Amino acid sequence: MKQIKPALGNWMFPVALVVLYGLGLLLVMEATDIRESPGHLWSLLGLSLFILLLVLYVYWHINRSFLYRIADAERQLAQEQASNSSMKDALIAEQTKRLSDTERDLLASRKQYQTLFERTADALMILEDGAFTEGNPACLKLFGCQGLDELRGVHPSELSPPVQADGSSSKEKAEEMIRHAMVHGSHRFEWLHQTRQGEAFPAEVLLTAIDRQGGVALCAIVRDITERKKAEQEIRHQAYYDSLTGLPNRRLMLDRISQALISSRRHEYFNALLFVDLDRFKFINDSLGHSVGDALLKQVADTLRQVVREEDTVARFGGDEFVILFKHLGMEKDAASLRAERLAEDLQQSISSTYTIEHHSIHVSSSIGIYLFPGQEETLDDIIKQADTAMYSAKESGRNQIAFFQSTMQEAVVKRLTLEKDLRQAVNDRQLQVYFQPQISSDNMLAGVEALVRWQHPEHGFVSPEEFIAIAEDSGIIYALGEFVLRTSIEQIMALPERPPKLSVNISPYEFRHSHFLETISGLIRQYQLPDRFLVLEITEGVVINDLENTIERLQQLRALGVMVSLDDFGTGYSSLSYLKRLPIDELKIDRSFVMDVEDDEHNAMLVRTIINIAHQFNLITVAEGVETETQKNFLSQLQCRVYQGYLYSRPVPVEELQRYIACFE
Ligand code: C2E
Ligand code: CA
Ligand code: CA
Repeated sequence: MKQIKPALGNWMFPVALVVLYGLGLLLVMEATDIRESPGHLWSLLGLSLFILLLVLYVYWHINRSFLYRIADAERQLAQEQASNSSMKDALIAEQTKRLSDTERDLLASRKQYQTLFERTADALMILEDGAFTEGNPACLKLFGCQGLDELRGVHPSELSPPVQADGSSSKEKAEEMIRHAMVHGSHRFEWLHQTRQGEAFPAEVLLTAIDRQGGVALCAIVRDITERKKAEQEIRHQAYYDSLTGLPNRRLMLDRISQALISSRRHEYFNALLFVDLDRFKFINDSLGHSVGDALLKQVADTLRQVVREEDTVARFGGDEFVILFKHLGMEKDAASLRAERLAEDLQQSISSTYTIEHHSIHVSSSIGIYLFPGQEETLDDIIKQADTAMYSAKESGRNQIAFFQSTMQEAVVKRLTLEKDLRQAVNDRQLQVYFQPQISSDNMLAGVEALVRWQHPEHGFVSPEEFIAIAEDSGIIYALGEFVLRTSIEQIMALPERPPKLSVNISPYEFRHSHFLETISGLIRQYQLPDRFLVLEITEGVVINDLENTIERLQQLRALGVMVSLDDFGTGYSSLSYLKRLPIDELKIDRSFVMDVEDDEHNAMLVRTIINIAHQFNLITVAEGVETETQKNFLSQLQCRVYQGYLYSRPVPVEELQRYIACFE
């Protein structure tokens, strides 16, 4: 505690008072004659002394209490100061404690961040002043760096190929990305990175601006998106490419055609769109199975890919329909047509070959339709339609053909499509009928009948089977149609009181190959209790062409059911003696075209002679078709042909008429 010292003024006042008193007294005594009266002098002295002492006492008293108060105040002050300083100490202690807590927290969170930084699977890097200063282990791994040294001071473009996917320079673009992140706080983008070993990979980068040691740095998160890109590409591929052949699909092709259309209109040159359809592909697919069909499509696709130029597009529109776009065929239409035709011929030649798939050797030919564009204001749809129409027309005019689009073709195609629709209806509505044509043996007996289908169209009248069987085959209607003919003919003939010895039914190669065919036949045999060797199936060489081994096996199975097999239209197709020898058949039908002018055409006569000879050698029954005259019949009988069928005896007739005809033989 502080000592209270009396102030200088405290002494001065009583001293001054005593001095003033002395002086006053002297003055009074000098001025008066009080010295003369000692009584007055003593009373003056006594009174003035008394007053002086009183004043001194009052002063002393006041002074003392004042000093005490000061001392009190000082004591209080001292006390307050003391308590203040302890509070301050406590405060400081508290603050220090608090400070160390924050520090600890800071340290802890720093540690957490460090762990996060080091352990996260994403590559993290710190980018300062355009160069990396730090990177986590994931980042080192991603970029194939041995240590941080390889990363520090490196510009992002040094971990990228020189050029980005969009063709821009990596260095310039990286700067742009950094600027963007700095301005906006963060920036996410895709980037082509590169490992230290030079392997490029697509990445997603997120740059975030962070405060760092008084400045701003960027934290970069780099994620390798190779897998995602692959998946995206896969999806894109699926959207634009055919999954079986890997060729562009319809969608991509349409896109290319529209581009070609725009560009060729502007630069005035011609392009050609080709529709390529494999002949009888449906048959191959139905008969040999889809896996063979698919394998064939793949091989054809490969062939097409090899044949066309790089600037051209080969696409698969589905099924066996391939579409090819030949661009830049010149500015002159005739010359362009010629070039397109040459290209189509080359294409056709490359396709047409024998493919070996799963031990089947399959011969393939194709029909090609060509449309040259641009014409006058046609749309994308028109271009496709015209090329398709031309292809249809090529198919119509026999297989293995090439046709250019002509405006009249459209009508034919529309007609054909309408006919297909009507035929479907006809099978359902029972507009079809079965006629029968008798077969007469050399000894003038009824040897059998051939069932021939007839279509009475409600508007067009009679439609020839030559016309609609092909449509039925192409559209798949043949299965229902074939079964209808089989069932109807069997039902009608079996119901006759006098049944002919045998019933021949024409079987399309499509039906023959169908997986249910054998079942259908055995079902009919059971249901109608058909006698042995009553039903004769007329097959054509078309059945044999592609698959001899399977054909043989199936024929054997059919014969085991008690069915006879006749080879129809013999000599018109790819007849080969080698297969004839191996085929388990019972009968050979000599085609009408040979019989027709057997009298005048020496060549045909010789052919017929040969066929009959061969048939005899193989122990086959010979049936001559389309016998119209006695001369024809005589010629054939000389060669010992066994059975005759034709207008000479009867046209194909409905069952009622057949019944009357048969009655004549009795
Ligand atoms: P195809 O099997 O060769 O039938 C013989 C064709 O010759 C029949 O024609 C018949 O009417 C005709 N024809 C018969 N004798 C004579 C004749 O003396 N002179 C002339 N000029 N023609 C004669 P159609 O009925 O028009 O049948 C044509 C072709 O249609 C048949 O040829 C056959 O390949 C097919 N076809 C007919 N019906 C069916 C059927 O039910 N199913 C299948 N898959 N094809 C059938
Ligand atoms: Ca026939
Ligand atoms: Ca025939």
